[in-house]
Amino acid sequence: MKLAMIGIGQAGGKIVDEFLAYDARTGADVVRAAVAANTAKADLRGIEHIPQAQQILVGQSRVKGHGVGADNELGAEVTEEDIDEIQSALDSVAVHEIDAFLVVAGLGGGTGSGGAPVVAKHLKRIYTEPVYGLGILPGGDEGGIYTLNAARSLKTFVDQVDNLMLFDNDAWRSSGESVGEGFDAINAELVTRFGVLFSAGEVTAGSDVAESVVDSSEIINTLKGGGISSLGYAEVPVDEPTRTGLLSRLRGPADDGIDSTDATNRITSLVRKATLGRLTLPTELQGTERALLVVAGPSAYLNRKGIEHGRKWLEEQTGSMEVRGGDYPRRGNGTVAALVLLGGVTNVPRIKELQQVAIEAQQNRGEITGESEGRFTDLMDTGGELDSLF
Ligand code: GDP
Repeated sequence: MKLAMIGIGQAGGKIVDEFLAYDARTGADVVRAAVAANTAKADLRGIEHIPQAQQILVGQSRVKGHGVGADNELGAEVTEEDIDEIQSALDSVAVHEIDAFLVVAGLGGGTGSGGAPVVAKHLKRIYTEPVYGLGILPGGDEGGIYTLNAARSLKTFVDQVDNLMLFDNDAWRSSGESVGEGFDAINAELVTRFGVLFSAGEVTAGSDVAESVVDSSEIINTLKGGGISSLGYAEVPVDEPTRTGLLSRLRGPADDGIDSTDATNRITSLVRKATLGRLTLPTELQGTERALLVVAGPSAYLNRKGIEHGRKWLEEQTGSMEVRGGDYPRRGNGTVAALVLLGGVTNVPRIKELQQVAIEAQQNRGEITGESEGRFTDLMDTGGELDSLF
């Protein structure tokens, strides 16, 4: 899947930067355009891979490059005022070559939290390609204002995108480590998961022939219908067969010394591990509207029966009749991996909790007056797609 990525705020910029590093490492060539926008000049300095011309400092006239703190209303305002600068950075993108836009931001801060929904709305207005969000939920130890920002931003962001994929920092913190200390490790996990999803279907020259390759339309169809998505991932090391491609297909996996029953069992157990292990956003499986299973690895290991068993198992677990499955042949990684995209999840304890904390924070602050009362009502508005979540 070919994407134009726009990272807003510090987390957004850093993660888009990581996707570029992933592309360079794996040769996936997923990121066809990358833009970082921030109100803080110092945060842009940490970016290594996004070209300078694609790094946009917004809100200079208001905040002089010093950031907006955790004020996400200000983040939204200055992004709106300077949206043309972000658009200019995107003008060179050959839109006919991309499958979708991806707007990436941490939802707990100021710039990304406020700015990401503004950018998504703008992109939807200008382009016909799908606009997806990748939102990072704050850690529980970050404080009330982060939770409140995230709850507000989540509601706005999900309404502006074709699907909002979430990653919950709180679920990924290692014990004894604050979220901040673990960001590099967390970002590596995040990019591995989303990297496999986006590279699936991008079979590059020299790749093995795929048996039932996942293409970008299957990812798009799984994300269609809006709402929130979560990803699961699991991998096991395998010996890479020396012979690859069509020859191994013609002779069959048995010729590679790979037992087909083992290959089937490996995949079915990976699918369970990916789904029942730590998801990017922990969620109940029942009630998930759509799902996609991608099995990645050397083609000799990509056993069709295993993928079909895994897909059926996912149907049972989610209760969804719309579960897609396919393979993504990749070499050189020394692993077979299962990636599960749960599209349109409906029962997410973290979102309910976030919502509750946000309501209490709002009440404690005793600021439910005028404009903020309007926003509070918006937050609690049960209309729209997220009825079951909010
Ligand atoms: P902004 O620049 O004002 O948008 O704020 P930040 O991006 O610095 O922080 C917003 C949220 O993103 C916080 O709640 C952090 O938990 C989270 N965050 C910041 N940096 C990273 C990062 O590198 N990785 C991840 N996963 N989360 C981050």
